[in-house]
Amino acid sequence: MVEQEFDVAMLGCGIMGSAMARTAQRKGLRVIAWDRSLESARSVGEGVTAVGDLQTAASKAHVVVTMLPDADAVLEVMDQQHGLDAVKPGCAWVQMATIGLNGIQRAQQLANRRPGVLFVDAPVSGSKGPAQEGRLIILASTDASDLPPRVTKLFEALGQRTMQLGKTGQGTRMKLVLNAWLSQLMEGLAETLAAADSLGISAQQLRDCLEGGPMGPPLVIAKLQKIDAGATGETEFPLKWADKDVHLAIEAVKSTRQRSLPVLETIARVWDRALQQGLGDRDVSAAYLAVVS
Ligand code: NAP
Repeated sequence: MVEQEFDVAMLGCGIMGSAMARTAQRKGLRVIAWDRSLESARSVGEGVTAVGDLQTAASKAHVVVTMLPDADAVLEVMDQQHGLDAVKPGCAWVQMATIGLNGIQRAQQLANRRPGVLFVDAPVSGSKGPAQEGRLIILASTDASDLPPRVTKLFEALGQRTMQLGKTGQGTRMKLVLNAWLSQLMEGLAETLAAADSLGISAQQLRDCLEGGPMGPPLVIAKLQKIDAGATGETEFPLKWADKDVHLAIEAVKSTRQRSLPVLETIARVWDRALQQGLGDRDVSAAYLAVVS
């Protein structure tokens, strides 16, 4: 039987956490929002309970979601700041940020200290728009035999579908694979647009050729429009987190000692430079600005 009433705590109310908290609340769940800035938690909006104290947020919830930037931030909140200590026995910690293989292992080791708390590795595919619309793809994996109904209900609220990928870590592996692909699409678009510009082809002409055809996936068309509109400052997926994910994918594949990924390694170098140029807080589509600057 699915319990109808339970509380979800969203730890981290940035682009994704705030959109996911709003969506969960709109879909009928009770949501508590916590962020290191109370202002960010409050800005999630009406119907969501903003809480300034981490322990209070974690202790009141049945499902605690971490949606923080990276592994260090997740460990800082759940370990050093004792977020996990506050989670009640029988509740779940659902780790939905992109923290890489080493990061998920560190988080799992921490979670093992609390055997009564279920740990779920569940990064998401999809950006701000899908998070606002409840159309994310949830990449779930756990060592438990089943996801508890409360967690399933949260995933149904947030996602268009949940992929159940096996043991803890498989969700993170899939996320790294997907973002390796995303980064190649984005850098490919950046250089294609730069090539078009050099050859006297406008962004609109390029879009007219690609849109609706096999070479123009919707994400590429949307980002092409964003670049053409000069709107890379309207950030959906920050370039700094996309660059983080490229490094995480390279590191994860390297750890298997099976092969190298020369294109991904080049993207990491190019995007590291873009961050040094101050483009990190812009949308990932600002990779174009690094190519043409
Ligand atoms: P974001 O907008 O930067 O939000 C992160 C939030 O965490 C901010 O409110 C930030 O506060 C807070 N924070 C940062 N460091 C912290 C710390 N040490 N302790 C406590 N709070 C901290 O990031 P996002 O785009 O929502 O992404 C969150 C995660 O989801 C990342 O792992 C990202 O890779 C992943 N993701 C993002 C997208 C996307 O399209 N945006 C899609 C899928 C997955 P401040 O504002 O004070 O820094």
